[in-house]
Amino acid sequence: MQVSGKTNAPRVLIVEDESALALLLAYNLEAEGYLVERCDRGDEAEVRLAENMPDLVILDWMLPGVSGIEICRRLRARDATRQLPVIMLTARGEEGERIRGLSVGADDYVVKPFSVPELMARVRALLRRAAPERIAGRLNAGDIELDRETRRVRRSGRDIHLGPTEFRLLEYLIEKPGRIFTRAQLLDSVWGMSAEIDERTVDVHVGRLRKALSRGRETDPIRTVRGAGYGFDETFGKA
Ligand code: CA
Repeated sequence: MQVSGKTNAPRVLIVEDESALALLLAYNLEAEGYLVERCDRGDEAEVRLAENMPDLVILDWMLPGVSGIEICRRLRARDATRQLPVIMLTARGEEGERIRGLSVGADDYVVKPFSVPELMARVRALLRRAAPERIAGRLNAGDIELDRETRRVRRSGRDIHLGPTEFRLLEYLIEKPGRIFTRAQLLDSVWGMSAEIDERTVDVHVGRLRKALSRGRETDPIRTVRGAGYGFDETFGKA
């Protein structure tokens, strides 16, 4: 099952006509578990926003079609999008426009070139403010519930005792249901820098996680794809 309703990964729309920057942002946001959409024209952004509302918009100031400031103004004028978090991007030299950006209702304002970690922090902060349950709280999939704050995992109401590595492994997989990660990717993301660790270590910890999650006849939510790696089964709990 997908990480359910409220706790589904936040969706971010990037409206930016500098494709290298848009790609860089998309890459970093996806790495943090966000669902990312991109478009490079203001008029196209308006169509997307009308069709499918994201949880946050990163909006460039100068865009072909309709300008970022105009889009922002229109978003604020409509009830449905009045509260939508917006981060405006602008080039150095346009800083004098900052006041104007904030006056049309952007929630935050970032001057290029900016540091990507800094922007990521602002995205998190804005989303937390707009919808605390999306970031802070719990991840649910089927009968499994993972609470990031208390570091507890429950299945059908019973506590599942996981070691710290198994916890991080589950947290990582459950955030991106359906995606298969290689052992190398998991080592990188879950273990961090320890490139010296043998890839079979991943198998050992996945084995422990499975054992803890699926006692007896309970469905195994972890998928093994031979020759590829591991993932959280996106159909889990959906039957
Ligand atoms: Ca631009």
